[in-house]
Amino acid sequence: MAKIAVLGAGVAGLGVALAAGRAGHEVILIERDDTPLAVSPAEAFDWDRQGAPQVRHSHAFLARLRNLLRDRYPDVLEALYAAGATPMDFISMLPEGMDRTPLPGDEDLVAIACRRTTFEWVLRKTILNEPSVKLVHGMGVTGLQTNQASDRTGVAQVTGLTLEDGTVVQADITVIAGGRRHDLPGLLSASGVAIRETIEDTGIVYFSRFFQLRKGAEFPAQTGPIGGDLGYLKFGVFPGDNRTFSITLAAGVTDRELRRQLTDPDQFITIAAQIPATAAHVEVDRSQPITGVNVMAGLLNRRRGFLDESGEPVVLGLHAVGDAHTCTNPLYGRGCSLALVQAELFADSLKEHGLNHRDRAVAFEGATRDEITPWYRASVTQDQLNADSPTVQNSPADAATSTADAATSTAEAATSTAEAATSTSGAREFMRDGLLPAMRTDPVVVRAFLRMFNLLEDPNSLMTNSDVVARVLTVFNDREDRPVEASMGPDRALLLEAIS
Ligand SMILES: Cc1cc2nc3c(=O)[nH]c(=O)nc-3n(C[C@H](O)[C@H](O)[C@H](O)COP(=O)(O)OP(=O)(O)OC[C@H]3O[C@@H](n4cnc5c(N)ncnc54)[C@H](O)[C@@H]3O)c2cc1C
Repeated sequence: MAKIAVLGAGVAGLGVALAAGRAGHEVILIERDDTPLAVSPAEAFDWDRQGAPQVRHSHAFLARLRNLLRDRYPDVLEALYAAGATPMDFISMLPEGMDRTPLPGDEDLVAIACRRTTFEWVLRKTILNEPSVKLVHGMGVTGLQTNQASDRTGVAQVTGLTLEDGTVVQADITVIAGGRRHDLPGLLSASGVAIRETIEDTGIVYFSRFFQLRKGAEFPAQTGPIGGDLGYLKFGVFPGDNRTFSITLAAGVTDRELRRQLTDPDQFITIAAQIPATAAHVEVDRSQPITGVNVMAGLLNRRRGFLDESGEPVVLGLHAVGDAHTCTNPLYGRGCSLALVQAELFADSLKEHGLNHRDRAVAFEGATRDEITPWYRASVTQDQLNADSPTVQNSPADAATSTADAATSTAEAATSTAEAATSTSGAREFMRDGLLPAMRTDPVVVRAFLRMFNLLEDPNSLMTNSDVVARVLTVFNDREDRPVEASMGPDRALLLEAIS
């Protein structure tokens, strides 16, 4: 059994502790935030999580993650529900008039509605009950312990961590799960190790506010999408646990005026009241805010490479998981799911290769390339399509744009009508006038979309499915004969006028 030191007890670090701890390995997690175990979800919501400020923002926990828990850690799923999380069954939310009789595979289309702090709290409680897992909190990692490898490659081998009080934690394997803001390249460069990094800005800033339903009040009936994109403003409502929910509004980085307005708690509510999907949620009789407006900028897509050009590891005895390895635009709600998937990939590579550091690294990075990297690429492509996009209407927010990417390639093989989709604006048009209306009326298309959105199929799966493509094209070709789609909200000028 290996001794594993983990930097960071966010979702990825906790996932590694769960997977490796249950496999019998000795795991020590080092978390810089001083966060003693809370006694309830409400108390966990007050955790001071400066190391993971996104916990104060809306989080979706997709079906891929829920299914992973269902299949491998049913006790964790049960504990989440006991803590007040609820299942989000997408089939029960199919558009009005569509047959909701479950089909084979529909049992997988269930996500988890929960605050991020509640999710983390349940994971934390679970791993603290694992006899081979230990957590140290309120203590940062400041350095790596390294040796030159004994073989002739001369590649540095990490043998543990140095903590801010000077303590050395020796380990067979070191896992970096420090999240999007931890300076892993800096940590590694102090040991002479350089890694590759690719960064693409998402171009957006997040504004989130949490609410609680008032006594006796209920969530509004869901009659339309709970998220979407007005072009200049993205919006979404996220049900949480214990009668909480959050609203996220995301503005363009360069839109100073809108950003200024969104930071004001009163204006935030006034703006939410202008958008049909969020308006009913912020009615004064229905809910009350339980936080101010939380703002998060610097939202990057970033991936890191730990193999050199010939496919050999640039460092041994160290892996990165979660955002420390690959992070994607939060709008698409994939980070926690991918972090837990990657924690499993780490555990699988450990099971297969044990302490053969070279083979384990090659296997882990290979599995990451197959399972995680396609979502990084999809994220970057979606962002490019969204940049300065005209009014686009989707549900859930923005995820449908990934299909426009696929539409670009599929259209080449499709009819001349779809040739429009080979340009970015054509791809948007194809999505707006083909995919989105088809999702409202065609159960095959909406199921295919939901499976992709929930990471149950690969990002290009919609447009590599000829049946789905044919159905979407039929709807697209009918676009001139349909009434104009209802607006999802005001344009920017109208919104600013309404709040002035
Ligand atoms: C605004 C926003 C909204 C998001 N919404 C969603 C969503 O809807 N759904 C979803 O699935 N994902 C979402 N994500 C992504 C998700 O939050 C991340 O993918 C996920 O937190 C990754 O987990 P992690 O463990 O890699 O990093 P984190 O959860 O950030 O954890 C990193 C941990 O490392 C600790 N740490 C850092 N440096 C040190 C150090 N030197 N020593 C010790 N500890 C250290 C930090 O304190 C922190 O606890 C969102 C992200 C953002 C930014």
